[in-house]
Amino acid sequence: MPFIDFRSDTVTKPTPEMRRAMSEAEVGDDVYGEDPTVNRLEALAAKMLGKEDALFVTSGTQGNQVAILTHCRPGDEVILEAESHIFLYEAGAAAALAGVQTRPIRGTNGAMDPDDIKKAIRSDDIHHPWSGLVCLENTHNKAGGKVISVETMKAIYHVANERSVPVHLDGARLFNAAVAAGVPVTDFTQYADTVQICLSKGLSAPVGSVLAGSRAFIKEARKWRKRLGGGLRQAGVLAAPGIIALETMVDRLAEDHANARLLANGLAAIPGLSVDVDGVETNIGLCHIHDTGLSNEAFIALLKAAGILASPFDDGVIRFVTHREITTDLVQTALERIKQQLS
Ligand SMILES: *Cc1c(COP(=O)(O)O)cnc(C)c1O
Repeated sequence: MPFIDFRSDTVTKPTPEMRRAMSEAEVGDDVYGEDPTVNRLEALAAKMLGKEDALFVTSGTQGNQVAILTHCRPGDEVILEAESHIFLYEAGAAAALAGVQTRPIRGTNGAMDPDDIKKAIRSDDIHHPWSGLVCLENTHNKAGGKVISVETMKAIYHVANERSVPVHLDGARLFNAAVAAGVPVTDFTQYADTVQICLSKGLSAPVGSVLAGSRAFIKEARKWRKRLGGGLRQAGVLAAPGIIALETMVDRLAEDHANARLLANGLAAIPGLSVDVDGVETNIGLCHIHDTGLSNEAFIALLKAAGILASPFDDGVIRFVTHREITTDLVQTALERIKQQLS
């Protein structure tokens, strides 16, 4: 029996259609700009995200870091949310590679207060670093897949714009936000200069992300990608499933959201577990286990014994992520097994 795997939406495998597209993809040398499938993916992503141009990158981390490298100079300060992926989970790359200083701002449900950003943008004082960039994250992973509202993004964009500080959006799960909010993804991206989206999470492609922005920005970003060793050759075999991801996998994210709510409701009904059910806006649920008296390690071991995988997130908090390979039936099965294990 395979595990019911709630660790992440990154575990989704390519569909048969993606496999076929990979084997049949027209390819060329992408470092020469000659891979027609990569070019098609980049044009499609740019259009969907409402930007002039786009760049296929190996991962979300590479997309975010290429963005920081392109927007900033060493010594600049990057304003970001205190529990953002760039701050917590990119191995210190912003410091190690771009030589920037990060300025974490604590948000509410992942959303920074525009007034806090206004205050954090540095004045012209000789002692200060330059404020080089504001980074937003939507949906916000650590906050439990929360959607940052279009209104909040708009307010932050205006505050940053007033001071000529660009805004980058880490949109690893931006399509989840758009589907949950019931608005076009461009409602969000209009309030960011650049955006990174992951093809390999809920959208189910095996590899890759796309960074989008102005034509001039992407031209420079392409050089940074090359410097980082991210210039690939016949990358069309990887871009082909990315095209299918963008064309066919966005609308179905609503199923993942429904399954996450179903799971959250079920978990919340199990004695010892608590979940902020109303706070489950997309495909991530955070389950609090304090009242079981179990450590994260013990709880994860208990899940594993029941054929279930999930991620320890914080002390006493376990993250469950729904995705294409988690059906409604599997959610029900998982709930029954967890109930049994805890009784
Ligand atoms: C997954 C993720 C990334 C990074 O993507 P990788 O492809 O794993 O490098 C960036 N930001 C957020 C919010 C993510 O969830």
